Amino acid sequence: MSSNVPPERLVAGLRCGEVLADLSRYLDGELDARQRGALEAHVRGCEWCERFGNEMGAVVSGLKRALAEPERLDDAVVSRLNERLARDAR
Ligand SMILES: [Zn+2]
Repeated sequence: MSSNVPPERLVAGLRCGEVLADLSRYLDGELDARQRGALEAHVRGCEWCERFGNEMGAVVSGLKRALAEPERLDDAVVSRLNERLARDAR
């Protein structure tokens, strides 16, 4: 078993590795609307990124919580999330 390798799980058209690779760009608002939507949908539907994403897992976990809120994420919320979790990770 290779527990460190992402299972290449495909959720919402994205693989876990792609989500984790794009996560910081997502939080920086550098993804377009379609990419954002797909990443959000993946995070909602995937527990692997949260549990096995190592330091990114904490960010995914925070994002997942934010996505569970009824209101849409705006850039201010996203940048706060990014900043806060980046500090927590260190
Ligand atoms: Zn995933």
